[in-house]
Parts: sequence; structure tokens; C-alpha cells
Amino acid sequence: MTRMLIIGPPGSGKGTQAERISERLGVVAISTGDIFRANVKGETPLGIEAKKYMDNGDFVPDSVTNKMVRDRLGESDVDNGFLLDGYPRTTAQVDYLDEILADGDEKLDVVLQLTADDEELVQRLLGRAKETGRSDDNEAVIRHRLDLYHEQTEAVVAKYAERGILTQVDGIGPIDEVTNRVMQAIKAAQAA
Ligand code: AMP
Repeated sequence: MTRMLIIGPPGSGKGTQAERISERLGVVAISTGDIFRANVKGETPLGIEAKKYMDNGDFVPDSVTNKMVRDRLGESDVDNGFLLDGYPRTTAQVDYLDEILADGDEKLDVVLQLTADDEELVQRLLGRAKETGRSDDNEAVIRHRLDLYHEQTEAVVAKYAERGILTQVDGIGPIDEVTNRVMQAIKAAQAA
């Protein structure tokens, strides 16, 4: 049973690594970005609301995001653990997640941070924009998302570091190599 988070700047490969960790540990990967994108595609009320923020690279408001996460973590496939990707991104979301977990008498085992240099990330994301046509992958929006990461999400990382559950992994390099580093870091964190 593992309950963990993966945190990293946009373009750090957290979605790719999350899928691999999920397979290897047998826990469900939950990406708030993916849930939002699925809702945008399906033109649901949640998607229509979220799109206004996502297209500009802004965070979707907590009033929308927190409830969505609480509902998702209440589903039965989460009973064997989970890997949350893309949440929490603000310290207010950390507090909210603490509440959800406390309500279920649960706690996080590991928080994994993927690290990467900003310029490397901008180049990667511009490359991804050409491949996927994601509407939030143009340079101005990319830089805004990176700024938000530094301004808000690094404080999230600091909170988990204080709690002694943070493990950091260099996200630069071939995908398989990063996966090896990630799996080793998780193993070491679980053994600690
Ligand atoms: P991601 O795929 O994780 O990069 O997320 C894509 C977009 O979804 C972000 O730029 C935000 O607009 C929105 N989003 C995802 N997770 C969150 C969150 N925890 N809080 C607020 N907005 C989020």
C-alpha cells in the first residue's frame, strides 16, 4: 500500500513517470490535469469552467479543484493506495489534502519531486506543443506556468520537506533512466 504524490514543474515528465510508477507499484495514478482535460473535451460544466483558467496557464480555483479531488479519492479503486499527480499545487491545497486524508485516517508515505532547469523545460514544452497541440503549451503560457510553480508549488515542496517525506529526483535524462532513479528513490524512502 503506497500513498504518494509526484510534484514537478510543467514539462518535467511527471505524467510519464506517474504512469510507470503506477504500473510498478500497482496503485492508481490520478492526474488532476488529465481529469480537467477529459472534462474540457467532454464539454462538461466542470470542463467549461476549468478551461477559462487552463488556457491562460492559471490554476483552476480551489473551490472547483478541491471538491474534484475529494470525490476522486473517495472512489473504490483508491483503497489500495494512490499516486496523485498535479495536486496539491498550493499550500492551501496541502491543508485540504491533509483534511481529506485525516478524515479517512490516512497519511502520505512519499512525496516525490522531479527537478529540472527552466530553460530545458521551456524547450521540451515547445516541442510537445508541436506534437500534441495542447492549448496551454505556447511560450508565454509556459513561462507563466513555470512562474506559478516557483511562486506557489515550491512552498508545497518545502512543507513536505519539513515533514521529512520528500524525496527529490533529477528529471533530466532518458525516460528509462529517470524511471530507474525514481523507483530507487521510492524504495529508499519506503525503507526509511
Ligand atoms: P498539468 O497537466 O498537471 O500540467 O495541469 C494542467 C492544468 O490544469 C494546469 O495548468 C491548471 O490550469 C490545471 N490544474 C491541474 N492541477 C491543478 C491543481 N492542483 N490546482 C489548480 N489547477 C490545476
